[in-house]
Amino acid sequence: PAQLQARGVVRSYGATPALRGVTLDVAEGEIVAVTGPSGCGKSTLLHCLAGILRPDAGEIGYRGQRIDTWSEAARSRLRRTEFGVLFQFGQLVAELTAAENVALPLLLAGTGRRAARTAALSWLDRLGVADLADTRPGEMSGGQQQRCATARALVTEPRVLFADEPTGALDTLTGEQVLGHLVRVAREQRTTVVLVTHDARVAGYADREIAMRDGTVDHSGLGLVGGPR
Ligand code: ADP
Ligand code: ADP
Repeated sequence: PAQLQARGVVRSYGATPALRGVTLDVAEGEIVAVTGPSGCGKSTLLHCLAGILRPDAGEIGYRGQRIDTWSEAARSRLRRTEFGVLFQFGQLVAELTAAENVALPLLLAGTGRRAARTAALSWLDRLGVADLADTRPGEMSGGQQQRCATARALVTEPRVLFADEPTGALDTLTGEQVLGHLVRVAREQRTTVVLVTHDARVAGYADREIAMRDGTVDHSGLGLVGGPR
């Protein structure tokens, strides 16, 4: 059974159509890469699946429940408890150390200081950046910041991680290292990952590629990039 479902999802920004009827399933523990050129609707699809944006038409399902009709408060609660999100620029808090940044979601969820710090240190270690625990983002490289941001996105042990161009700001080698860590840890945790990228190489890390063009998904199974014309 699918963990995430989109059924005929349509979404526009004013007169600009972003999604023209997207239908797809993502299984629990699956790592999917949503690929396609800039402007084809990848981010909009991710925001709809994560309950951040409401579709204009169609349905979003999570573990058998239709969530697009839920209130903002209910969707926000779902995001806090079940989902993790990671963006292109990790958006770490500049004034806080790596350990404090990673502990933050746990503190906000009511975990005690000591337990939150212990968990944060353990997640930094899993991402290979334990030595940066007491360092602030301004003194880190881009790759180090994204590893810390990945630790922060996973510290609450979400069932689904939504990642929007998580390596988009990094050079190729650093991007692949960050992605390698992210995918390894996600598999260890059996975390479902929806990875949005315009970089076709990144899709090589996923179990399956969902190729988009012009607000729709290609279901031919052939892929759009490099496929037959
Ligand atoms: P991608 O992630 O593939 O680059 P997006 O989902 O960001 O695609 O965008 C899909 C389309 O919607 C594009 O034409 C984009 O310009 C437009 N769009 C996205 N966000 C907004 C917005 N906030 N306001 C207006 N148009 C938007
Ligand atoms: P991405 O790299 O994820 O495709 P963009 O860089 O296209 O995102 O967009 C960054 C932000 O600007 C997003 O919040 C998006 O919704 C918004 N945006 C994108 N296209 C437009 C647009 N044509 N008009 C207004 N806002 C837009």
